[in-house]
Amino acid sequence: MPITSIEELSKLIELSDSEKDWKEGKMGSLPLLISDHIASMLSIPAIRRQFVPSYPENTDETGDLDPQEECLHEKTRRLVHRYHNRAAFLVTDRCFSYCRHCFRRRFTGSLQGPASDEEITEAARYAGNHREIGEVLLTGGDMFTLSDERIGFLLDTFKKICPDVILRLCTRAVAVYPERFTEDLFAIIRKNQKGAPYYLMTQFNHPAELTADAIAAVKGFIDLGIPAMNQTVLLSGVNDDADTLIELSNRLLYNRIKPYYLFQGDLVKGTQHLRVPIEKGLEIERKMRLELSGLGMPQYTIDLPDGGGKVILTENHLIEKKGRDYVFTTPEGGTRIYPDPIS
Ligand code: SF4
Repeated sequence: MPITSIEELSKLIELSDSEKDWKEGKMGSLPLLISDHIASMLSIPAIRRQFVPSYPENTDETGDLDPQEECLHEKTRRLVHRYHNRAAFLVTDRCFSYCRHCFRRRFTGSLQGPASDEEITEAARYAGNHREIGEVLLTGGDMFTLSDERIGFLLDTFKKICPDVILRLCTRAVAVYPERFTEDLFAIIRKNQKGAPYYLMTQFNHPAELTADAIAAVKGFIDLGIPAMNQTVLLSGVNDDADTLIELSNRLLYNRIKPYYLFQGDLVKGTQHLRVPIEKGLEIERKMRLELSGLGMPQYTIDLPDGGGKVILTENHLIEKKGRDYVFTTPEGGTRIYPDPIS
């Protein structure tokens, strides 16, 4: 049975004063929910910090509940069209475990439940009628909290109405509830593999999350020919050191999961204690870039507040331009000049 309260949690682990003092319903109001799979891993500090709430969540006045201004860009119920070439459909507010760093806490765990038939159909029609939309993110919450039957309806509806739109299957469930990924579920996905491809978008934040069961769940998608991409959130006390993230990237790659983004924590109310200073993030990114291949290197990215959009964060190697010559620093600290062609 999943854990849903501090009282249940205190029977499993000895809570710190800060964890005992957390109160549900204050600020960001993300509920407490921890799957059996994650509960069995709470002795690992990096796992505990991601899923066990603590008092700073209740007192953080910084940030916003909707830093990406998704509400302003909602075009049909639950369909957010913020970037011209892609949209996000919030399939459900539910997850198998709630991550304390969740950037969508205005919606996640808000008891709104899964999207209705009408909402799914309306969203697919919107995507089909807007030819500039090439991709729809099926997200939430976690779409795999839906029953097999509802997932079948969701995929079938999008495939019938907008077959040329790539669907990103966004899920943290492979990490927090891998037993969800059964043969029956894969049979439904296989049945709906037509038209544009699917992409699996995972969220692994620490190497310990790559359990044998989690890897097997992702393999189920990859074996269907669905590419897997990972998004990691940079989190204080979880993965804010280069060695941890290098190990994570190498293990992801080895398991055919492309490290895609390393996200700077969004400016979300209740999460300040989990955010990492950008200067430290840039130093981590610099060290990762020295150790990882291009294939293994995720893009360190910030989603700017007030709906400003995504910006890549990286060390600047272009230091000046002299006439036709661009002056660069090398990763090892040297200098090189690259001239523009003579016109
Ligand atoms: S699984 Fe995703 S949507 Fe759910 S709580 Fe974690 S980050 Fe938020």
